[in-house]
Amino acid sequence: MSALVRPSLQSIGTSMFSTFTRLAEEHGAINLAQGFPDFNPPADLIAGATEAMHDGANQYSPPIGVAPLRYAIADHAREQHGLVYDPDREITVTAGTTEAIWSAIVALIEPGDEAIVIDPCYELYGAAVAILGGIPRYVPVSPFPEFRLDLDLLERTFNERTRIVFVNTPTNPTGRVLTGEELRAIGELAERYDAYVVSDEAYENITYDGFEHVPVAADPRCRERTIMASSISKTFSATGWRIGWFMAPAQITEVIRKVHQFVLFSAPQPLQRGAAAMFAAARGSDYYDRLRAEYTERRDLFMPYLREAGLDVGQAPKGGYFIMTRCSSSDDAAFCRQLIERARVAAIPGSLFYSDPTNGPGLVRFAFCKRMETLREAGERLIAAMG
Ligand code: GLN
Repeated sequence: MSALVRPSLQSIGTSMFSTFTRLAEEHGAINLAQGFPDFNPPADLIAGATEAMHDGANQYSPPIGVAPLRYAIADHAREQHGLVYDPDREITVTAGTTEAIWSAIVALIEPGDEAIVIDPCYELYGAAVAILGGIPRYVPVSPFPEFRLDLDLLERTFNERTRIVFVNTPTNPTGRVLTGEELRAIGELAERYDAYVVSDEAYENITYDGFEHVPVAADPRCRERTIMASSISKTFSATGWRIGWFMAPAQITEVIRKVHQFVLFSAPQPLQRGAAAMFAAARGSDYYDRLRAEYTERRDLFMPYLREAGLDVGQAPKGGYFIMTRCSSSDDAAFCRQLIERARVAAIPGSLFYSDPTNGPGLVRFAFCKRMETLREAGERLIAAMG
């Protein structure tokens, strides 16, 4: 068996998201574990893709993506975030944010290189670095509920072998939005150690309470060394379409495109065209304001249920669509399994987002990217089982 497996793969398990979704399905539980909407994407997205299919756009696209989508991504970045990227030389369409980040890591990491990962985080970054023989260096944030970044610790973790620093804002799973000051510090350190910033901004359009998403590349020091990855998954509620992109200076883009062409060749053409049509429909409408307003309603509906069920909800998320809570037990994995069986609600153990799960005991993450009636039903089940 071991001969079949790269040594670096031996420590990699099954994604926690597929594990908990399978458990939820087995128990007929409402799935608030994996972050995907249980409602349909906007009609313009679906209409754009089906029209493209009927119009014959069913073959490969150029590996960098169809022009209408790359130009739409450039317009969106400029109009929503004030970022200027050249759609031909600096924007590339990928299979979701995941492939964008994976291709960037393959392009940048050599065995023995170090990559800084802010801990807790989404499971992809450290796993991908480790699979490729790189060394993830984890920088813990302060404990629940603040999850503050320790800039001194971050500085001490940088060294000559640091090749990448990963940033994710709004942050999964903590719901934090990084401040301009934190981003400036990251840019300053990345510049000093000549490292790249790989920035996962998949939740760029979902922020609350007047908190603004500050893209990493808004800082000029970061702009020249940042690979910003995002997707339509959250913005257009279509996680299953696997349409994403990365934006990076032309020289960096060229290198990552070499990897991307052999990982994927090209993202599904009709879905790219649907995404372009949806960007066009959203442009100049109140789509992004409505998205934020709807998510604010979902968050504000669901949080009181969690409180009433006896969970410590800590701080309301400032961005993204997850609420990190603390439960009465330090064994959050056991707690989540019981929750599935007794309340028939699935959440994900928060400790699993930590490189060392003992650093985040008793945390439970709920995804609220669901219909209001789903959230009400889940809330009532939680209270009935635990309240
Ligand atoms: N980003 C989503 C989450 O954190 C799920 C991603 C996945 O399932 N791969 O829930």
